[in-house]
Amino acid sequence: MKTVFSGIQPSGDMHVGNYIGAIRNWITLQDQYRSFFCVVDYHAITQDYAVKEMGRRVFDMAVDILALGVDPDKATLFVQSMVPEHTELCWVLNAVTGHGDLERMTQFKDKSEHQPENINAALFEYPVLQAADILLYKAELVPVGQDQVQHIELARRIARSFNHRWGKVFPECEPKLTPVAKVLGLDGQQKMSKSLNNHLPLAAMEDKPLRKLLGRAVTDVKRVERTDPGDPDVCNVFAWHGMFSTEEDRAWVREGCTTAGIGCVDCKGRLAERMVAHFAPYRERRAELLAHPERVKDTLHAGAEKARAVAKKTMDEVRHKLGLWR
Ligand code: SF4
Repeated sequence: MKTVFSGIQPSGDMHVGNYIGAIRNWITLQDQYRSFFCVVDYHAITQDYAVKEMGRRVFDMAVDILALGVDPDKATLFVQSMVPEHTELCWVLNAVTGHGDLERMTQFKDKSEHQPENINAALFEYPVLQAADILLYKAELVPVGQDQVQHIELARRIARSFNHRWGKVFPECEPKLTPVAKVLGLDGQQKMSKSLNNHLPLAAMEDKPLRKLLGRAVTDVKRVERTDPGDPDVCNVFAWHGMFSTEEDRAWVREGCTTAGIGCVDCKGRLAERMVAHFAPYRERRAELLAHPERVKDTLHAGAEKARAVAKKTMDEVRHKLGLWR
């Protein structure tokens, strides 16, 4: 059975972009592969954050992942900093990573632009830690969106360089593209992100707050008046319908939008209904987990133990290949 690794940053409130881009796939993958899913808190410290909130962010993320349907009996769910071999392997991999390769990473350039006052070395090294995350478990497959493919290609090059220099240890991982390439935010322009404040948090999946949020969603700009026909194919609200609504709903929107038979409020109202229904089981499971936080902690500790057993084995192999004294 092939191994899959995937990580998610503890960014605070889980949102629809995280769910569609990552967790929904994890739920499918856990039935098909030996799966390692990780809350990557060491990645999160490359950006400014409130220290006091980090623990809560990690815990909340784990609660959401479990509530959405990741099953610890099928997949290993753990927190990155609880498995110190991640950073140890990262250091080793630094020795076979080209500086020029890291300079070419578009995400580093983007993040540097967004936080010019804090362009730290860890931000630059981010893809090497990401490679270590993957290679520690000898994962062959990494589910990612198109924007992460460059990082996975680098991880593959790093694995090849390691194997060439010290002898074969790592497989060359492949990106497994997520079915939805990119989930756009309320602005209809940029990838959904909490930091851009264009997100739909799962915490808002109740009728009133969701309708209010969807009210902000940018639609087809040519639809100024209710009587103006629109084009669903240029409207991000319609893209969300594709993720949560039925085929009949989508046909109803297409017909109503192109003929001005329905208004955007009707269209968003139907979407809100579907999303609330979709996330109802999640809300129920989340409430149950929050009532028993010790269950979440136990799950994360057990996950870290399982992950560590694999990670230690890989590091023993790595140290041996490196010729380190013991
Ligand atoms: Fe978008 Fe729906 Fe309005 Fe059409 S009716 S422009 S699909 S929100």
